[in-house]
Amino acid sequence: SLLSDVIAPHEIGVAFDDIGALEDVKCALKELIITPLKRPELFSKGRLLKPVKGILLFGPPGTGKTMLAKAVATESGASFMNVSMSSITSNLNGEGEKYVKAIISLASKLSPTVIFFDEVDSMLGKRENPQEKETTRRMKNEFMVNWEGLLTKDYERVVVLAATNRPYDLDEAVIRRLPRRLMVSLPDAPNRERILKMILSKEALAEDVSLDSVANMTDGYSGSDLKNLCVAAAGRPIHDLLHREKKEKRLAIAEGRPEPELLTADDIR
Ligand code: ATP
Repeated sequence: SLLSDVIAPHEIGVAFDDIGALEDVKCALKELIITPLKRPELFSKGRLLKPVKGILLFGPPGTGKTMLAKAVATESGASFMNVSMSSITSNLNGEGEKYVKAIISLASKLSPTVIFFDEVDSMLGKRENPQEKETTRRMKNEFMVNWEGLLTKDYERVVVLAATNRPYDLDEAVIRRLPRRLMVSLPDAPNRERILKMILSKEALAEDVSLDSVANMTDGYSGSDLKNLCVAAAGRPIHDLLHREKKEKRLAIAEGRPEPELLTADDIR
């Protein structure tokens, strides 16, 4: 449906190796989620050590929270369900309760499963809106009850990763269901260089490109900003080629020569 994607483990297409930087977050996710999902038997003995059922990833936009959640599913051999909170609240008038139930029950059927609640603050924000419709309020309740159901079943291999850019807007009930919180911060210069290397690993680069100096010029850029920068830069040679083509054509006309042929991809430099 439009509101959520369900992806089988081998079709997710993002693994930890595709994510530059964020080493400490990856490490924590491995310990808290991946190992328990892959080897539940190790956690079946004691009473203290229970598998973690929910983690909040918080940090600025574009820092790789969605990528991390997908990679966790890949690394655990789990199905991935991407549930966009904002589209649930804005699109489901009255149908929300049924939908929430369906998500949770599908997740159990596909288990092991990683459910990703993106923009978790948009549905469950703490500021009570007096105009909030009764249907929305009921849906929220239903959501919380079903979520609670997941938490109480230790044997069920379903985990929730939730993401937000606004951790301070979450209400108590949500925080309680996400006992671990990991900060996904903006990359520093060495990590920006790692991310750039990752993004450009399959591209032909000019010899004089220094990723080190690009990393030093991009203070405050997120991984997503770096990706956009690379896409813009990748378009530049074509822009230059078209410009050259136009100049050569103008020159030929001025000198009374026949129009030159169009340039090809081999002429890109
Ligand atoms: P938002 O909060 O806006 O949803 P997000 O934190 O979920 O953002 P992603 O959607 O995971 O961020 O990242 C957006 C894109 O930025 C990714 O598809 C990827 O191309 C790039 N990107 C972000 N961080 C990294 C990283 N650490 N390594 C490689 N690519 C990255």
